[in-house]
Amino acid sequence: MIDACSQESKRLLSIEDALGKIKASICSISGTEKVTLNDALGRVLAESVHSPLNIPHDRNAAMDGYAFAGGDIVYGHVFTLSVVGTSWAGRPFQGQLHSGECVRIFTGAVVPAHADSVIMQEHVQVQGRNIHFPADTRALQNIRGIGEDVKQGDCLVAQAKKLTAVDLGLIASAGIDQVTVKRRLKIAHFSTGDELTALGLQLEPGKIYDSNRTMLNGFLADPGHDVVDLGIIPDHKQLLEDSFIEASKNYDAVITTGGASVGDADYIKEILQTCGEVNFWKIAIKPGKPLAFGKIGDCYFFGLPGNPVAVVVTFQQIVVPALQQLSGALFTKPLRFTATCTSALKKSPGRQDYQRGILSQDERGEFFVASAGQQGSHLLGSMSQSDCYIVLPEECKGIQAGDKVIVEPFSLRIE
Ligand code: AMP
Ligand code: MG
Repeated sequence: MIDACSQESKRLLSIEDALGKIKASICSISGTEKVTLNDALGRVLAESVHSPLNIPHDRNAAMDGYAFAGGDIVYGHVFTLSVVGTSWAGRPFQGQLHSGECVRIFTGAVVPAHADSVIMQEHVQVQGRNIHFPADTRALQNIRGIGEDVKQGDCLVAQAKKLTAVDLGLIASAGIDQVTVKRRLKIAHFSTGDELTALGLQLEPGKIYDSNRTMLNGFLADPGHDVVDLGIIPDHKQLLEDSFIEASKNYDAVITTGGASVGDADYIKEILQTCGEVNFWKIAIKPGKPLAFGKIGDCYFFGLPGNPVAVVVTFQQIVVPALQQLSGALFTKPLRFTATCTSALKKSPGRQDYQRGILSQDERGEFFVASAGQQGSHLLGSMSQSDCYIVLPEECKGIQAGDKVIVEPFSLRIE
């Protein structure tokens, strides 16, 4: 696709092709470790977990009521059974259930042998030990069967899943207290640029504060990562080259921002070419075109653009799936759906745009999206106010208010 904006003569790599190259070229780390469930949240499961138990382990009551045998039902008539004991959750009924009898039972309590049904306590009439059952009583109700959730030997969670709290709950329900997960990814990042000032220092003329590093520290915060912030490196070729080589020896992945474009002070791609190999440089997205991906030794290298919004977009669209692949996790795609755009949007054909939008939903559940305002790649303000990308395909020439667009929410909750 030709980029009309920059008069780019060569076809730029599409985002799909860039992701394809990432998938094909990144080898997942092999190291693993055993951790307790309390330390496993967000870690990548290295070995599938199978259940040593049936879950539920016993037949148990789905509600508070009375357990009885279906053979005692007098169909179409009210009938009476006599209560002979209680089955509590954690304290099963110890006796024998005979014909004509029932057992008081509570949710989660073991259903006595010979009983095959539980009736809700609200549906019976209690008269001392006599329990009157209604004429519409049916057998085989309100019992949770053995292995209904998980059968002994079933896979509880498959390897490569990034463990959620629910996964951990499921594993815990099988009595397993440790899992084997991939080791943490060692990731370093630094900012490049003579204009950058670290937080806490006085801003000299012409300088700006380094916002990218703070964002990357946030984006990279993940239980499966060990992240090292290497600070700011000036636009000095030798210093940058030394930093690249040093970092490549110690980390699985290095992420930089700035200096990835074609300016006289932009050395990133050149250094990557000299010290390692460039897999791709420049992709057909906006913002975020100048992105250098490659390898130095065994270390994967991501040279992101300098503009903060371009950092956000390239991190989320390229680096996140790349780190998933590297960590051994499933390669996931962001959720996208169609919404009606309430703003007119400018767009030149040639690159896939990730414009920043604000989602809303009407009382019928229809989705609408409005532009979050100015779309410059240096404008973090509108990025901060947005809650989704409006993804405009390469060939799109602009959007009129009322057109349908594809949106990609940052999270699934809206204000
Ligand atoms: P570059 O890619 O180095 O040409 O930078 C593009 C733009 O992003 C310039 O306006 C830089 O000043 C800005 N920029 C680069 N790095 C950072 C950073 N760490 N924090 C904030 N802005 C940055
Ligand atoms: Mg720069």
